[in-house]
Amino acid sequence: MRAFRAVGGTPRFMVSGAGPYLTDADGREYVDLVCSWGPMILGHSHPEVIAAVQEAVSRGTSFGTPGEGEVALAEEIVARIEPVEQVRLVSSGTEATMSAIRLARGFTGRAKVVKFAGCYHGHVDALLAAAGSGVATFGLPDTPGVTGATAGDTVVLPYNDLDAVRAAFAAHPGEIACVITEASPGNMGVVPPADGFNAGLKELCAANGALYISDEVMTGFRTSKAGWYGVDGVRPDLMTFGKVMGGGFPAAAFGGRGDVMAHLAPAGPVYQAGTLSGNPVATAAGLAQLRLLDDAAYAKIDAVSAELRSLVGDALTKEGVAHTVSAASNMFSVFFTDRPVRDYEDAKKQDVFRFTAFFHSMLEQGVYLPPSAFESWFVSTAHDERAVERIAAALPAAARAASEATA
Ligand code: PLP
Repeated sequence: MRAFRAVGGTPRFMVSGAGPYLTDADGREYVDLVCSWGPMILGHSHPEVIAAVQEAVSRGTSFGTPGEGEVALAEEIVARIEPVEQVRLVSSGTEATMSAIRLARGFTGRAKVVKFAGCYHGHVDALLAAAGSGVATFGLPDTPGVTGATAGDTVVLPYNDLDAVRAAFAAHPGEIACVITEASPGNMGVVPPADGFNAGLKELCAANGALYISDEVMTGFRTSKAGWYGVDGVRPDLMTFGKVMGGGFPAAAFGGRGDVMAHLAPAGPVYQAGTLSGNPVATAAGLAQLRLLDDAAYAKIDAVSAELRSLVGDALTKEGVAHTVSAASNMFSVFFTDRPVRDYEDAKKQDVFRFTAFFHSMLEQGVYLPPSAFESWFVSTAHDERAVERIAAALPAAARAASEATA
């Protein structure tokens, strides 16, 4: 994504960030609506986060032992997210989902994993699988380097389709270890779960002896104080986190039911480890960021998101551009189609060439959008009136560029 392969042109090399702004190597400033793909929820270089990092780094950078920082961060996560009875810290979202799946397989003694087309869970081999045609299809490797054997235990289903999940459980009785889903997907653009979808997944997993894994790497600590769980209240067996909880450093986590987590080493037999897990600098950054994320902070982010959604929608409507602004709490993206988007197939039917024209116009005018039509836009508490005004000023020309674009 950051190489601009989806939109063409030259990627910008950023050298500094302050509040809602990024500055590139040529000295150009941009209003940032990517926020490092989610983590920078307080904006860049927040003074309290930077101070916590400087304080931590002055005491050393890695000890490879238990430490106070990891306990404090774990306690903060457990306090915020009720279904998390125990949590394990790792260094990336990919590690979190990979470890959660290993744990689900170890706990259930089953091999197969159900995932949904368009949901991204990091570059875990088993999850880089795309479905062939039809429902309940075994995964085929999505990239060279993933073997058929690795992808073959992955069942890829259309998102928001409980009948497909029912059919998969019927086709593979006693074989499915877990269903993993983005709590509310942001990796095919923002496509929220239909009413009852997550609850239905939970029910089907429980009825069939499988674990329900909610991937909150993107939504966690962003869509509310308790992430997407704070929005829909569906209680997962395991959850994964990353991005916001690291405060811009590599920190991630997985956790959930105590009886499941008890199967994890050293208490249990399922192996998991990491040289830099619970790193003192990363945990200091994450903890400082989480402690600043109070109700007022979420209210601010929600309000900025709502304002931007309406500005973008109005600008596109004015130019007669077919579009849908799709939101899940304060995460949102724009699909260049007026047909409803419920899954990845729908998302792919948009006029991507219009997004490309829109994106480049915004970029030229100093607004840094995600360089793909299939990504969430992210805002922060630092997106103030001045930043919003700069975005608003850029929108008319970008909407015109979208309207004039040709395939
Ligand atoms: N899960 C979700 C929902 C994500 O959005 C991502 C990254 O974008 C990941 C997992 C992987 O996280 P990381 O890039 O930290 O490995």
